[in-house]
Amino acid sequence: MAKLQVDVVTAEGVTHTGEADFVVAPGIAGEFGVLPRHIPMLTPLRTGSVMVRNGNKEEHIFVAGGFIEVLPDRVTILADAAERAEDIDEARAEEARRKAQELLSQDATNAEASAALERAVFRMRVADIRRRRRERPQNPLSGQ
Ligand code: ATP
Repeated sequence: MAKLQVDVVTAEGVTHTGEADFVVAPGIAGEFGVLPRHIPMLTPLRTGSVMVRNGNKEEHIFVAGGFIEVLPDRVTILADAAERAEDIDEARAEEARRKAQELLSQDATNAEASAALERAVFRMRVADIRRRRRERPQNPLSGQ
């Protein structure tokens, strides 16, 4: 079956590279899914999580904005920041959330604090998705 080559890169390096059957990304106009042979497109991303499924394996990756380029056999994400779920430092995200909320309580129009809050909340959400998946009892029929 046709596969997608998926690369998630930032200015700091490669966050994820590998094959996939299906990718879900947070587009500026909403979340969308990509299967092999998708029509070519280039669109901005919003802060959120990218899901990469290959066989019965799912990877969750936090992305803070950027762009996604889709080609029939390839998905390339160029993100301002990106972390694989297992690389997210939850204590750091929690501290960033606390700081951003403090700033917003002083000035609710602080756009930088509002963006920082969004990043922190999504980082915690991506880390949480991974934790819940690990805690879930595995289905002996799923082959995982
Ligand atoms: P902080 O206030 O904790 O620095 P931030 O949202 O301002 O968070 P970014 O500007 O998005 O941080 O990212 C700066 C760098 O730090 C990037 O390389 C990013 O991948 C990394 N980073 C930020 N927060 C975390 C985290 N909670 N866990 C792992 N890496 C992180």
